[in-house]
Amino acid sequence: AKQAGRNGVQTFDLAMGSETAAQLALERDLRAALTRGEFLLHYQPVFDVSSGLVTGFEALIRWAHPTQGLISPGTFIPVAEEAALIVPLGTWVLHEACRQATLWQVSRAVTMSVNVSALQFEQPDFVKTVREALRSTGLPPGQLILELTESAVLRDPDAAVAQLRDLRALGIRIALDDFGTGHSSLSLLRRLPIDALKIDRSFVQDAAAEVMVGVAVTLARAFSLHVVAEGIETEGQRALAQALGCDGMQGYLLARPAPADEMPPC
Ligand code: C2E
Ligand code: CA
Ligand code: CA
Ligand code: CA
Repeated sequence: AKQAGRNGVQTFDLAMGSETAAQLALERDLRAALTRGEFLLHYQPVFDVSSGLVTGFEALIRWAHPTQGLISPGTFIPVAEEAALIVPLGTWVLHEACRQATLWQVSRAVTMSVNVSALQFEQPDFVKTVREALRSTGLPPGQLILELTESAVLRDPDAAVAQLRDLRALGIRIALDDFGTGHSSLSLLRRLPIDALKIDRSFVQDAAAEVMVGVAVTLARAFSLHVVAEGIETEGQRALAQALGCDGMQGYLLARPAPADEMPPC
């Protein structure tokens, strides 16, 4: 069953009894969309807290459906993951985001953050895929940031640590996304060869944000990690990120995700 969701964006209700049929139909449509090139990337600027300057962009995928308009990733990424379509889709995202980042090199080097799903990260040739995206687009590795969630490293932490080392050896950076929402332990965090934490917006927007964000910043400092606050929607949240010593911030108050040609100059 399909329902019109928030902002008229379509969501698929998979819990209606016919989930198998609905899921299969969506899988089939996703496969076709990939061959037809119906995916596109929006970008959301990341701001430096102290200078207020744009330091980079996060690539966020959308599906330009021929009849239903723009479909948000929350609707199709889980299905793409289940059908392993996320692997070719993720490779496309990586190339497209790196290509776009090279176009933004003209004035000042900016970072490009790319979301990576657990299944993508688990592919034996993932490091090779990243190296190939850098090589074919010519993006300097120092400008690429891969965003991984805790679930991507939890299944096999030893293998994850080894692969993260290989990725960083390419010269790219790693951010742990949605920090605080997963189940990783303090000792795992200590072991992970990463560069940044992104504090989930549920913490930034929590009634006890001062405590939650404060703890995350303290942890980030202890492990010498860059820390970015996500989901800044109000002046109060911006002030808090600043007061608590976050390095970067992202959110609707500052800039919404939009096509590349609508990005602010930097
Ligand atoms: P995420 O990586 O945590 O990305 C942040 C999400 O929060 C984005 O939703 C963004 O549009 C939204 N957001 C940004 N600022 C605000 C704010 O101030 N308030 C609120 N309420 N939301 C804000 P989006 O674009 O719908 O993406 C949802 C999720 O889909 C992403 O969460 C990420 O997990 C996944 N995703 C998006 N693009 C990709 C991709 O290329 N590959 C993979 N594997 N996952 C992706
Ligand atoms: Ca992200
Ligand atoms: Ca996030
Ligand atoms: Ca997320």
